[in-house]
Amino acid sequence: MYKLTGKVQHYAWGGTTYIPQLLGINNSTQQPYAEYWMGAHASAPSLVEQNANHHIALNELIGNNPAQWLGEKTAARFGGLPYLFKVLDVKDMLSIQVHPSKTEAEKGFARENEAGVALNAPHRNYKDDNHKPEVMLALSDFWLLHGFKESALLLQTLRETEAFQTLLPVFEKEGHYGLYKQVMELPQAAVDNLLSPLLQEAEPLYKVGRLSKSGPAYWACKTLAANNGNYNNIDRGIFSIYFFNIVQLHPGQAIFQGAGVPHAYLEGQNIELMSNSDNVLRGGLTLKHIDVPELLKHTLFEGIIPQVMNGEKNGAETVYHCPVPDFEVSNITVNKLSAYRHTAFSVEILLITEGEAEITTPVQTLHVKKGEAVLVGASETYTIGAGTKAVLYKAGVPEQDAIINNKP
Ligand SMILES: [Zn+2]
Repeated sequence: MYKLTGKVQHYAWGGTTYIPQLLGINNSTQQPYAEYWMGAHASAPSLVEQNANHHIALNELIGNNPAQWLGEKTAARFGGLPYLFKVLDVKDMLSIQVHPSKTEAEKGFARENEAGVALNAPHRNYKDDNHKPEVMLALSDFWLLHGFKESALLLQTLRETEAFQTLLPVFEKEGHYGLYKQVMELPQAAVDNLLSPLLQEAEPLYKVGRLSKSGPAYWACKTLAANNGNYNNIDRGIFSIYFFNIVQLHPGQAIFQGAGVPHAYLEGQNIELMSNSDNVLRGGLTLKHIDVPELLKHTLFEGIIPQVMNGEKNGAETVYHCPVPDFEVSNITVNKLSAYRHTAFSVEILLITEGEAEITTPVQTLHVKKGEAVLVGASETYTIGAGTKAVLYKAGVPEQDAIINNKP
């Protein structure tokens, strides 16, 4: 068991206070702090403190002795740390995205390699050969787009939205796929023509704070504002804001996003846990590369009802089970009366977000406070105790026998 320090990502969409306050950093220059990464991703590995004078990158530490850190089973199955653990502070909306399945990622990665597309080329779709399912657990009220609306709901949206009358027969005839393909392939001038009247109607209400975050008009206007209120080159991601489910999560609620489910984070703070991958196909709300044919190939074109998870509570721990073998996330809340005792199946990362706690193994005790993280190796037994309330989040690998779905 060692203390671990993650890496901050200063993406422009990030907020300026949440992550600095969590980590105890003075951000007087108001830099955006978008993400805090805890993991072994080669582009930003965490640093492990083996002693006061010696730090080692997490990918190197695990690479030197995978079976010890990951456990035999996880080492054999994944070869390295299967997950990437993050804290996100979303101030401005993130791009609409879809992640490929494992099989499709392997094919796409090989295809781009064969075609000689450089790994860092801006139009490269596949950065690795891994899938990227993700689970997010809200730390604040959190807003996101998640999957297409079910047919009845989407029909209602199209009927009620004056600007979408020409799209209504397309959906009636060709369903989710035909509708989405149509708007994603429209010439930009047609996008501007369709969306301008809708935005012109909504913008005055947005400016006086009359639009609710539970409706699409609010986020459409926020997108327009991000484009400096410019009615030329309107982001076609606005169609998706109307076609997808808008989900509000309260603190402690989580949602899982598997392969093909289109999604976009709109606003709030969360804990995010995903497979160790960077494969993203984008569909709007972005200046980055959009490959429409590739996006259409991997998007799940069916209406879904978002499945919000409240977790399974067992003593001090609330676990959020996911239908993948790569990861699971939990909240651990301890106090004077309730401690947590556990044996790690595989390598675990613990982040403390509130209070102070003691983490004790048979051979050592680490005192941790808000913002600190700890790495625990496979098979290690430990307890977490605290004199007053402390809150921690844990990333781990589910015991393999517990996974029924998604065998590779
Ligand atoms: Zn995503």
